Amino acid sequence: MAPYEVIETTKGSMDVSLLVKRAGTVDNDVELTHWVEYWLPGAPAHPECAHRLEMPSRMCVLCPAELVHRSADVTLKQATVFAEGTAHSFA
Ligand SMILES: [Zn+2]
Repeated sequence: MAPYEVIETTKGSMDVSLLVKRAGTVDNDVELTHWVEYWLPGAPAHPECAHRLEMPSRMCVLCPAELVHRSADVTLKQATVFAEGTAHSFA
């Protein structure tokens, strides 16, 4: 049995088994980003929906689902080079 897992959302702590997880990666010259989203399915649920947001709304424009959690692990490739350069200037 999978462990009971809870995450913080805009609606408080929620059991992830109630939510739909989406994840992706952005990899380009500037950044390497791994992002994770948790969606609360609406009624009726649309499991096949790709979900699309129109800011500042957190509701999907295509179905009744709501984005309740989003996190991103961003690594800026150019910032890393810059940080190494400045380290020498403070020596
Ligand atoms: Zn949707």
